Amino acid sequence: MDGVQPKLIIHGGAGGHLQSHEGEEKVRKILHSVVEEVYDSLLSGVKAREAVIQGCQLLEDEPIFNAGTGSVLQSDGQVRMSASFMDGERQRFSGIINVCRVKNPIQIADFLQDQEDRVLSDYGAAELLRQINIPSYDPLIDIRLKEWMQDRTAEFHKAMAGVVAEEELALPDETRRGTIGVVVLDRYGKIAVGTSTGGKGLERIGRVSDSAMPAGNYANKQAGVSCTGIGEDILDECLAAKIVIRVTDGLSLKDSMLRSMQECRDRQRDLGAIAIDQTGAIAWGKTSEVILAAYHNGEVIGDTIDWNNEELVGYC
Ligand code: ASP
Repeated sequence: MDGVQPKLIIHGGAGGHLQSHEGEEKVRKILHSVVEEVYDSLLSGVKAREAVIQGCQLLEDEPIFNAGTGSVLQSDGQVRMSASFMDGERQRFSGIINVCRVKNPIQIADFLQDQEDRVLSDYGAAELLRQINIPSYDPLIDIRLKEWMQDRTAEFHKAMAGVVAEEELALPDETRRGTIGVVVLDRYGKIAVGTSTGGKGLERIGRVSDSAMPAGNYANKQAGVSCTGIGEDILDECLAAKIVIRVTDGLSLKDSMLRSMQECRDRQRDLGAIAIDQTGAIAWGKTSEVILAAYHNGEVIGDTIDWNNEELVGYC
């Protein structure tokens, strides 16, 4: 199939409100420029897989987001990152869990897509980096280090680190987070999805994020979903896979997102999700205060940054 109008939605995390209007504008500018770049690739015929990896890499390289450069620190002061990729056409998942000292964890998830062993964690991940000659890279930035030191003094009372790396540090009782995700429908009608994170921040060593599990990143031929928010909440809902399966079983994307978000709200979950289906519908949802997402619907670029009303779901 050729000539489908490509669709794209990306996110830079969900959580509490950003601290300033300037912060919002900065995030908006970055998200829009990534959407523009990836959408141009899609228009030129780049396939869903390459477009997802391109988008994730661009977002991982933005220090403001909690993925790749700018990732949050875990309780012991180390950065450990997780990322996954799912090819909807092949319905194939691959991912890397708690990997250290790498610039683009999504590249490793991409590499694993064609391997026999498709999900690797810490020791295995480090071994793989050596084996395929990935250069060592320190993703730590000062703001995240300061955030960790501040929280260490306060004995890690926060549930999560900041949604984005802002100069002004978070208020003590604010729980906010970040992660990146990309969902694509390409010109050939194929769907792919990628998610990458530094984790919740301040977590125990060995804690596993939803971002490299099908609960947080899932796609088949019918739909693709990337989640963000408290990973444990996302796991308990098996959110990404659930939304995709609801679509597969005949519910519209909007209704699948809405029903899933209503359930999440009823169970006091704190999360968000972005999605695209095979017909080209785009949807997003959140139970958190905000989800930082931007999309290209074939006509225009839009975003959800000011969307913090009572509605659980938006779509176009
Ligand atoms: N879901 C991620 C985690 O729990 C965090 C996030 O989305 O910001 O590791």
